[in-house]
Amino acid sequence: MTSTVLTPAFASKPAGNTTAEPEKPIIPIDISMCQGRNKGRAAHIINTVAQNSELGKELLEGIARNGYRIMMFGADGWGGCVSAETKMLSLNCMCSDEELMQVISHEARHIQQFENGIESDCNRYDFRGAVMSHRAKEADAQATSCAVCYDLMRKGIDGPMKAFEKDDPLIVKGFMDACKDPKGPVTDKMLQGAFEGWYKNEEMVVRYENGYLRDGGLNYCWEERNHPETFYVKPVSSKEIVETICRNASGKCYWADNPKVLEQPEKQAVSESTRKKCQQTFAIRKNMYNLEEDKTYQTLPLREELKAQKKKPANTNAAIPANVAAQLIAARRGR
Ligand SMILES: [Zn+2]
Repeated sequence: MTSTVLTPAFASKPAGNTTAEPEKPIIPIDISMCQGRNKGRAAHIINTVAQNSELGKELLEGIARNGYRIMMFGADGWGGCVSAETKMLSLNCMCSDEELMQVISHEARHIQQFENGIESDCNRYDFRGAVMSHRAKEADAQATSCAVCYDLMRKGIDGPMKAFEKDDPLIVKGFMDACKDPKGPVTDKMLQGAFEGWYKNEEMVVRYENGYLRDGGLNYCWEERNHPETFYVKPVSSKEIVETICRNASGKCYWADNPKVLEQPEKQAVSESTRKKCQQTFAIRKNMYNLEEDKTYQTLPLREELKAQKKKPANTNAAIPANVAAQLIAARRGR
């Protein structure tokens, strides 16, 4: 089973840094797998981040400390990925250096999350825990990489933040809206704002849900040799997840004032196809291996029902139940 974590690519694909002399990374990260001019680019990206952001430097040191190597590849649709199995952090060389300064910080944050104890393969948690932890990992990696871009911006390097804003405006907006002093340090509220921004991009949330939770973990080939009994078994709470991964520069949880944030219905909602896949998968596991059904998925609201609920008129004593509303909407669509 793959534990690769992909980051969507940026829309623009300008050429990278073409003029700089090849640099050597000031942090001992193995970039020997980068070919040709990509070696110099990787070093330049590493050095710019490390020299201009304390947080970025710490994240990059984590890459080296945990024995990950960096390679650059050309691909379409993804900015970067990291695999805990192969200990490889890959960057898409089609992106610009400025874009990759954000991407490398995002992927390095995943390595730190693993180091702090989150399952790199979220599907070892029960399904509710898988949904909460997988989304929180991505939201936190984006919030943290936004903080690195902010540090660079305060040093006069505003390209990475501009590129990030173009690609993911809701995250940067959430972060900057909470910024009281543009010259001041990153605050917990800014990190919270960026974190919330990730969930506001429904297309992104659905893409990750389909790719990793529905078609990834639940589609796993259930064979005895792969130890199916180790999947979907560990209960985990919102508090445990945010305390493990959502840490500010001082190592404190930036959700300390709201540790149950991941229990909000909007953050747990799944689509109907994901719920159906859960039913199928847990039936297969029960029939083949007599594994107790993980019923936590039944507690997760359906995205469409939540939306219908929000649309219903306020202050009515006879509110239409969400499931009825969803059925009505479906009927109107002629489904
Ligand atoms: Zn990611």
